[in-house]
Amino acid sequence: MMRIRLYGDPVLRQKAKKVEVIDEHLDEILEDMIETMYLGDGVGLAAPQVGLSLRMFVMDYGEGPVKVINPLILEKSEETAVEEEGCLSLPEIFEDVERSVWIKAKFQNEKGEWIERGFRDYPARVFQHEYDHLDGILFIDRISPAKRALLKPKLLGLIKMAKKGSRV
Ligand code: ZN
Repeated sequence: MMRIRLYGDPVLRQKAKKVEVIDEHLDEILEDMIETMYLGDGVGLAAPQVGLSLRMFVMDYGEGPVKVINPLILEKSEETAVEEEGCLSLPEIFEDVERSVWIKAKFQNEKGEWIERGFRDYPARVFQHEYDHLDGILFIDRISPAKRALLKPKLLGLIKMAKKGSRV
């Protein structure tokens, strides 16, 4: 299992770099990320959350694991929906987030092949949440400042834990 970086860890705020080499080694990392995601009871995990500033993530919205490398969101619906989200880097925090209902995305799989496909509803939400991580954006950035202010004590607690973690 890989160590999950918590809110306050600077890697979560970096803009991740494009994956240049897609090989067996990279696939091993993605497999480790899938294992870590399942152990954490998550539906998605982005590379920056395990300390790797790379544009890739894994997700499982109920149809088995999907590996997503160098994703691009080509189109997103004007229509939005509000649903509760959580994040392995922000344990015990759940907030309503507004997202596009559907997206059209393009990404590479573990073989380096480009895949273009649409996602709708829950899968689209998971994809957008994980994609945000690659740009250093967290779901709490997408809630109202008033709600974020209420989270401050919890966030300060996580920052302390993140600092402790970095010393291990
Ligand atoms: Zn997350």
